[in-house]
Amino acid sequence: MDESEKMNVLSKLISINTVNDNEKDIADYLQKLFADHGIFSEVLPVKGNRANLVAEIGDGDKILALSGHMDTVMAGEGWDYDPFKLTEKDGELYGRGTTDMKAGLTAMVIAMIELKENGTPLNGKVRLLATVGEEVGEMGAKKLTDDGYMQDVDALVIGEPTAPYLGYTHMGSLDIRVNSKGVAAHSSMPDQGFNAIDPLVEFIHEANDKFRNTGASDPVLGHFIFNVTTIKGGTQVNAIPGSASAEMNFRTLDSYNNDKVLADVHTIIDQLNKADGVDLSIEIMMNLNGVVSGKDSTIIDITQNIEKEYFGDKVQKGGGAGTIDAARFMVGKPKDYNLVISGPGNQTMHKVNESVPKSLYLDFIDIYKKIAEQYLK
Ligand SMILES: [Zn+2]
Repeated sequence: MDESEKMNVLSKLISINTVNDNEKDIADYLQKLFADHGIFSEVLPVKGNRANLVAEIGDGDKILALSGHMDTVMAGEGWDYDPFKLTEKDGELYGRGTTDMKAGLTAMVIAMIELKENGTPLNGKVRLLATVGEEVGEMGAKKLTDDGYMQDVDALVIGEPTAPYLGYTHMGSLDIRVNSKGVAAHSSMPDQGFNAIDPLVEFIHEANDKFRNTGASDPVLGHFIFNVTTIKGGTQVNAIPGSASAEMNFRTLDSYNNDKVLADVHTIIDQLNKADGVDLSIEIMMNLNGVVSGKDSTIIDITQNIEKEYFGDKVQKGGGAGTIDAARFMVGKPKDYNLVISGPGNQTMHKVNESVPKSLYLDFIDIYKKIAEQYLK
């Protein structure tokens, strides 16, 4: 593909508004693009106008998956450019989703097309897993995993915008709501009611005490994180509140994972519920375990060597607190699994005037081609 075609494909993806919806429009477009280049793909409905896309090239048992999400976060106010029109200025490409992560996804798509066009010998298959809804709960990656598309995959590359870092691990995320049920009454007659806020406050104290002092930390990811993030209760100033609730987020580690956190939350609640009138309960809003994969896996080594040609010593392995599709794809995979998170981008993700350097986008087309060539040698 020549450069103007490469720009056209990215331009098309940016012009399709996939703010937490409509990924099927991108899937349909990519299916046609692949078909024009003799590549078979499947558009797999998730719900409404949302569909994953799976495409494959090559032949053989060994499978390398390349993955990117098609959705973006909302554009927000204050852009200097139309967020849904790719705009090039001084070597930067502006638009919602340029960094996170339509440039990475497009680079993967074009890499596959070029591998096919060039007849590059591949001892195995390259499988594209393009997903929906990564920004809110990773439902597309969950569906692909549930439907078996990760089962036979030997190595996974996720094109999230981490360059020049190579990700192989991230924290887990757990969101829960604790509900407190009381009995409403007039504030002049508290004996006829039970104040739902009181035990909730006690719970929050104990939870802060416990989860802010776990001592759990990871040399790459840092400390376990806990915060109560919302609190609601009561109806008016002169009434004993009949209900109250608080929401909280945990960023978990392998050494203090979601199951252990939930067990500890239940212990606190069971203890408080022993008191007369206290009725605390827990609702799980989101439960995603962290990702651990091989720091020195084959795919990490290959990617590191290739990217050193482009970014020199800036290439380093690491991890982060944010949850991505890997949390779904990696369910059931061993701790030395072949995973690398690497893609083009800068620090503008989720911000106004999101952009990606044009040269970085073009470099990653070649980087993904080289990763496939070397992994499937
Ligand atoms: Zn992303």
